[in-house]
Amino acid sequence: MEQYCPPAHVLIFPFPAQGHVNSMLKLAELLGLAGVHITFLNTDFIHERLVRYTDIETRFSCYPGFQFKTISDGLSADHPRSLIKFIEVYDSLNSKTKLLLREMLASNQLIGSNTRPCLTCIIVDGLIGGFTSDIANEFRIPIIYFRTISACCFWAYFSVPKIIEAGEIPVTGNEDMDCLITTVPSMESFLRYRDLPSFCQANDLNHCNLHVFVTETQQSPQAHALILNTFEDLEGPILSHIRTHCSKVYTIGPLHTHLKFRLEAKTSSSQSQSSNNLFEVDKSCMTWLDAQPLKSVIYVSFGSITTITKDEHMEFWFGLVNSKQRFLWVIRSDLVVGEHNGVPEELMKGTKERGYIVSWTPQEEVLAHHAIGGFLTHSGWNSTLESIVAGVPMICWPFIGDQQLNSRFVSEVWKLGLDMKGVCDRFIVEKMVNYLMGERREEFMKSTNLMARLARKSVSEGGSSYYSLDCLVKDIKLMSMEAD
Ligand code: UDP
Repeated sequence: MEQYCPPAHVLIFPFPAQGHVNSMLKLAELLGLAGVHITFLNTDFIHERLVRYTDIETRFSCYPGFQFKTISDGLSADHPRSLIKFIEVYDSLNSKTKLLLREMLASNQLIGSNTRPCLTCIIVDGLIGGFTSDIANEFRIPIIYFRTISACCFWAYFSVPKIIEAGEIPVTGNEDMDCLITTVPSMESFLRYRDLPSFCQANDLNHCNLHVFVTETQQSPQAHALILNTFEDLEGPILSHIRTHCSKVYTIGPLHTHLKFRLEAKTSSSQSQSSNNLFEVDKSCMTWLDAQPLKSVIYVSFGSITTITKDEHMEFWFGLVNSKQRFLWVIRSDLVVGEHNGVPEELMKGTKERGYIVSWTPQEEVLAHHAIGGFLTHSGWNSTLESIVAGVPMICWPFIGDQQLNSRFVSEVWKLGLDMKGVCDRFIVEKMVNYLMGERREEFMKSTNLMARLARKSVSEGGSSYYSLDCLVKDIKLMSMEAD
């Protein structure tokens, strides 16, 4: 008689921020489709917003063995949990949440019911991999790291000890920012000081942000496996380097398209949207887009955490209006720091004629809309992948972290757009927008169409990401059988 084997049960634990939660929920849904039982652990703050702005509870209730659990991030209710307070969030998770997680595991709270199997493994956001690994080791649960950044940025963080050894950082302030960094394998010919992840551009090697990102990344080889939201045709050469240190690397991206394809294959419907927004979506922009000509609109969005000064706001606004191109611009209520004394009449007029401003869009849908011809982006990794899949060329204005490096790859390696890093000037904005939407459009359309095709191929049956996800699922199921 065949022995009963309980289904695999995975705990998924993201870092509490939009880009992280979004992609880890997509991973959860993909694993749910493959029959894996999931406990998804959100901080209370994040979960409350997800429930307010999405249908996640109904959506995930279709997956047998799926449950949400919440945990405190240890911060006070009025803490802004913004990017500038990153280290406070990180420290609180590392001290207070860590204790709560240990308690949850010790008291079997994550099992929840008699029918739910024990934990097969934990898939944790690699940014909080350190403390979660300590606990996982204590309870002898295998741990897999998921990183929400690009492989190129992961590799740059991984190479930081070498960059330091070669004396190329810390930055003293006297460097030519266009000078090449020569110690990151595969990037020797194009990586400049200004393209290093922003935390690596510190003049103090003990800076807490640098320390966190480098230490957490360096621990990755100790995990059972590493999952990256990327695909082989995009970052193959970099992935080969990572694989010399991490023996199992699953590349299963672009996750949003991978999920869409698998959902469509399962339900035979082409209407599969999985919204994981922490903000209220304003769908009116879709009606506005419907009325615009083919590829005539530049979409402008700086993601969920970037902030800009009111002067930068004015420079972008003048640049967009003066370009005479149509634009759809996401201005979150907390995007602009500082109050304006009034908005010039010409901006109001130009915006009324050719622009549309909203506080949050259904971005994947926007990028896929036929009216979109370009994307002025902060180069967050999710936004970059979403633009790649939609075949939309980009103007990159990176703000922080991995964005500095992503934008270099977009412009210099993948040739999918222009890099405007470090500059915020109305004349440059106008010029770049017109390059992208006009003069250089044909050139970019060729490379963006090709990369979009490769991205979709990777998540189609037989593609590299499709195969990699199947291997990951097998790996998890095998772990569950071995544990039994
Ligand atoms: N996003 C959205 N609507 C918006 C702006 C952003 O749905 O108006 C989503 C976008 O599709 C992406 C995420 O928010 O999935 C932003 O993640 P990303 O990694 O690009 O940047 P971050 O917010 O982490 O800086």
